[in-house]
Amino acid sequence: MDKKPIIETRNLSKTYRGDVRAVRNVSLSVYAGELFGLFGPNGAGKSTIVRLLSTLLAPSEGTAVVNGYDVTQQEIQVRASLGLVTADERSFYGRLTCAQNLHFYAAMQNVSRQKIADRTHAVLELFGLTPKADARVQSLSTGQMQRLNMARALIHDPPLLFLDEPTKSMDVQTSDFVKALIKEELVGRQSKTVLFISHELYEMDNFCDRVVILAEGQVQAVGTPAELGALLPRRAVYRVVVEGDAAVIERRWLATPGIEGVTAVSHGAATTAFDVTLADESVWLAVMQGVAAGNGRIETYRRVDDASLRRIVEHFSGDQRLEIED
Ligand code: ADP
Ligand code: MG
Repeated sequence: MDKKPIIETRNLSKTYRGDVRAVRNVSLSVYAGELFGLFGPNGAGKSTIVRLLSTLLAPSEGTAVVNGYDVTQQEIQVRASLGLVTADERSFYGRLTCAQNLHFYAAMQNVSRQKIADRTHAVLELFGLTPKADARVQSLSTGQMQRLNMARALIHDPPLLFLDEPTKSMDVQTSDFVKALIKEELVGRQSKTVLFISHELYEMDNFCDRVVILAEGQVQAVGTPAELGALLPRRAVYRVVVEGDAAVIERRWLATPGIEGVTAVSHGAATTAFDVTLADESVWLAVMQGVAAGNGRIETYRRVDDASLRRIVEHFSGDQRLEIED
């Protein structure tokens, strides 16, 4: 396959006031039709790169070419080339219907008069919102609103879609629906190029074609999720609060392959909090089986090893920096 870059950055750099070097000499190529992931811990510079590529910010140094247009010279053409979705953004007219809102944004994006109805119909259909066409936006559920937000980004049928942590506040159903739509329909059938941002690596698995790992504003590695996954530490530590027979649960966990460590961190009246170290995320089923063995249930769980993200940064820093060429 002949690969044609649709995004090309050259030494792209952004220094914010106060000397924050958010993006440093980033040179990247994203090919047309790719589902490309931007991964990195909070503060890595992901959103800044998206703002630079969308012309919402001007680079301090370097430049980028998006869909053939230079972000520093051809802002209008760049903006017309892309749809942008940022997490939690919901600036709709609540008292107008979904269709009315989309008509408005279509006009803002210079969609021609005779095409507005067609495009509105198409994006509503795509996101399963046709039955909501004439419902006021304020009557939508959170998930419906999130889908409408993505529908709006595609109203002008741009070849590029930038998604800045789109799944961050989505429930699992909405997130699964949206991700399947991105992969199968937008990239698969419509051959759009999608830049998908997340600070969770598992989001990229079985999803992105290639991923760039960013840390401290710099490219650390580029490759397929499998290539990168093989290089990354996959261990994860979860703080799991359980009800039930804590002693039985602990014993069971300690005897489970893939559970590398169990530490009781606090005991409540009816609950016990454990820090559980997993070889990788696939061990979760065994964690739940252990809880079941103690007639218990998981009250809460959250990942507590932000250090793993630091390990990623360390892993790919300095001499170990690598570029995987395909
Ligand atoms: P990410 O999206 O990966 O979490 P950002 O691009 O938002 O990272 O931020 C990168 C760095 O730039 C961080 O250190 C952040 O604090 C800083 N930063 C982001 N926006 C601004 C701003 N408007 N002014 C100053 N510093 C900023
Ligand atoms: Mg961000």
